[in-house]
Amino acid sequence: MTYEKVFEMEKMENLNPYQIAQMQFDRAADKLDIEPWIRDFLKTPRRNVSVDFPVRMDDGSVKMFTGYRVQHNNARGPYKGGIRFSPEVNLDEVRALAMWMTWKTALIDVPFGGAKGGVVCNPRKMSTAELERMTRRFTYEISDVIGPNSDIPAPDMNTNAQVMAWILDTYSMGQRHYVFGVVTGKPIFLGGSYGRDEATGRGVVIVAMELLKDEGLEPKGLTAVVQGFGNVGYHAARTLVEKGVKVIGISDISTAIYNPRGIDVQDAREYAERNNFLLEGYDKAEHLSPKESILEVETDILIPAAVENQITTENAGNIKAKFVVEGANGPTTPEADRILYEKGIIVVPDILANAGGVTVSYYEWVQNIQREQWPYEMVIRKLEEKLVNAYRNVRNLAEKEKVDMRTAAYMIAIDRVAEATRTRGIFP
Ligand code: NAD
Repeated sequence: MTYEKVFEMEKMENLNPYQIAQMQFDRAADKLDIEPWIRDFLKTPRRNVSVDFPVRMDDGSVKMFTGYRVQHNNARGPYKGGIRFSPEVNLDEVRALAMWMTWKTALIDVPFGGAKGGVVCNPRKMSTAELERMTRRFTYEISDVIGPNSDIPAPDMNTNAQVMAWILDTYSMGQRHYVFGVVTGKPIFLGGSYGRDEATGRGVVIVAMELLKDEGLEPKGLTAVVQGFGNVGYHAARTLVEKGVKVIGISDISTAIYNPRGIDVQDAREYAERNNFLLEGYDKAEHLSPKESILEVETDILIPAAVENQITTENAGNIKAKFVVEGANGPTTPEADRILYEKGIIVVPDILANAGGVTVSYYEWVQNIQREQWPYEMVIRKLEEKLVNAYRNVRNLAEKEKVDMRTAAYMIAIDRVAEATRTRGIFP
């Protein structure tokens, strides 16, 4: 598909994350000297698993659910990627997310490939017992393709340490022994890693701080807006405050809150925890409508940390932030990327900015293999080293090649996966 065609579709608001992922790939691959067969190979997921399965609901009825596991590439190591529960998840979204995981693991240089999974469901409308039965049956359905040396799931939207514990238990029951390394993002006492919970949000801020340094700015006194107040958004907001940045806007699926004097992130979080994880009704800030307008307020740092396709041709022209640091996967469409670049807004791409999660997932997997538990400080120090190093590589290449940071990040990642593919060769 040509860029023009994708731009046209984007204008029609017919945004397909898989086509966007392929387009981002092409933009970077055009700048690299890669054999055509490797290019075709890297553009296509290795395996698309789709399962339909029954779950008994609390009222005794039986409901069918659809789930996916897409394994994009394992040239550099076992497939790795989260599982999301969402009413909107579909095969193309999971394929895009799987592809982004391949570039992310290559960019931060951990020995993993890329995969992603999802179950079409509305977790807000299900009881804990129903979620457990659904998770266990889904795990059973995909248990032939996952495993500690083949494909290792992790948390993503609407999944957490508890869901990982159910996956771990179901898989281990099938294997007849405890398989620590089959998932990451587990509870600490079941082989999880210190720091994993906050790793993605903290990583977003680690990368943002490096960017500020390059721009000659001190965090103290700067402002930030965070879209999404879940695992990534909350930990990003909390870490920003730790660094002296004033968080003036936060949104979630229910509302957007705004206070130019600064929001008490901890207080907002405690309110959300009492309110079914929603900010709706929080009375210590103004509520903006529509909630998407939070993206357009005057601020230094904007962190989209919710879902895909939030910065589009519709609103990119109105974005006033100086820096966009992508906590979510795929929040900016290719045409919006171009608009932001032309406006001089620096975008730190998802595969770099939110790579903290998979970095600590890798550390968790290593600890599981070694039957060790590393102290929190050691995990955070190693996380910082990895992300700062990846940031430096991307920034240097972007300056050298005079491209945006997304293209530079893709160039590094694609080159590494291409080299692994070329050297391993084709079987048989
Ligand atoms: P989560 O389920 O913990 O939180 C999602 C948040 O986004 C919630 O506050 C929800 O209310 C909000 N939200 C959903 N739709 C919204 C909308 N249209 N507008 C505003 N807010 C909305 O999920 P998470 O784990 O924080 O993941 C968020 C994003 O970060 C996803 O794109 C995910 O793929 C990405 N990500 C997550 C991790 C991780 O370790 N959890 C790692 C890398 C990337």
